Amino acid sequence: MGVNLLGLDHDALAGCLAGLGEKPFRARQVMRWMHQLGESEFARMTDLAKPLRARLGEVAEIVAPRLVSDTTAPDGTRKWLLDVGSSAVETVFIPESSRGTLCISSQAGCSLDCRFCATGKQGFNRNLTTAEIVGQLWHARRALGASRADRVISNVVMMGMGEPLLNFDNVLPALRLMLDDNAYGLSRRRVTVSTSGIVPMIDRLRDTCPVALAVSLHAPNDRLRDELMPINRKYPLRELLAACARYLECAPRDSITFEYVMLAGVNDAPSHARELLALVSDVSCKVNLIPFNPFPGAGDQRSSDDAIRRFAERLQAAGIVTTIRKTRGGEIDAACGQLAGRVADRTRRTLRIARAA
Ligand code: SAH
Ligand code: SF4
Repeated sequence: MGVNLLGLDHDALAGCLAGLGEKPFRARQVMRWMHQLGESEFARMTDLAKPLRARLGEVAEIVAPRLVSDTTAPDGTRKWLLDVGSSAVETVFIPESSRGTLCISSQAGCSLDCRFCATGKQGFNRNLTTAEIVGQLWHARRALGASRADRVISNVVMMGMGEPLLNFDNVLPALRLMLDDNAYGLSRRRVTVSTSGIVPMIDRLRDTCPVALAVSLHAPNDRLRDELMPINRKYPLRELLAACARYLECAPRDSITFEYVMLAGVNDAPSHARELLALVSDVSCKVNLIPFNPFPGAGDQRSSDDAIRRFAERLQAAGIVTTIRKTRGGEIDAACGQLAGRVADRTRRTLRIARAA
């Protein structure tokens, strides 16, 4: 097995080709074949000299994770399940009138065990390689039709399975490929990393590849956040908000998005809204309220539509741009926090069997 070129950013690929005595522009050619045309056979890369095609066939390969399933919900949301060997990860495409958002995974499972998250409940399996992260875009682009793909996938959000900033070394080259004009050609504003708040890594992202940042806040004080998100004990709110302020110095957007999952009777009272306003008062931000998506075994319930609307109005009245996330793809378990790959699928099957018995 040769080196998998799907996981190499421009400089790494140019280095690899230099080792074969090739000029740097060859890297751009190969990238366009792979990422824009979805080609995985060197033999078909017709603008490369035949000896180079043959040589690449000997020392390299282009391999994306195997596709296990491809499901489309009635609202058009599409979910792919990809086999990454020891487990499966999910990628979701959400079409809207003005944009198409691809939600990709960064890890198989997640070690951070947030109370409200199906991926967290599944535990941590392993970090995805760069090729497995980029492979999700590669599959989606091919599946959605290569000719129209530059219009179809307009945004990428790292909001699937896993904590992207705990897999930084593999995520970074993947981000570079998303931004590269010879690969996926997205602007920094249209690529979003979502994090539970790994403070030192927020700084590292700022210094190496600042893209749009979303931070999963979910609670307005440390006591409650400790309960919902164990990572808060390591990086408490004060440190997290300071990191957000530092990030804004280099961010491609002039605000950070705070995600806030709405859990009935847990974090949705007027007092929580007031506390949240005080907490974020020094950081230029938008708030995205996410109605909790239940999954089998979840102990929490979704806040009522009324509670969510009132919470949003309180923030809006204080001048914070606040949106309520539309839940999409629930019928195919593709909504936020429902992604759990094969392991939870098994749990669900077991539950169904137990219920039927
Ligand atoms: N690990 C990263 C990115 C993946 S999760 C993070 O935590 O930010 C993407 C978003 O979905 C996060 O804001 C997460 O808190 C939210 N989420 C997780 N479980 C959810 C659920 N059951 N319902 C609604 N949103 C959920
Ligand atoms: Fe991991 Fe994010 Fe889920 Fe928390 S919400 S368990 S950090 S994937």
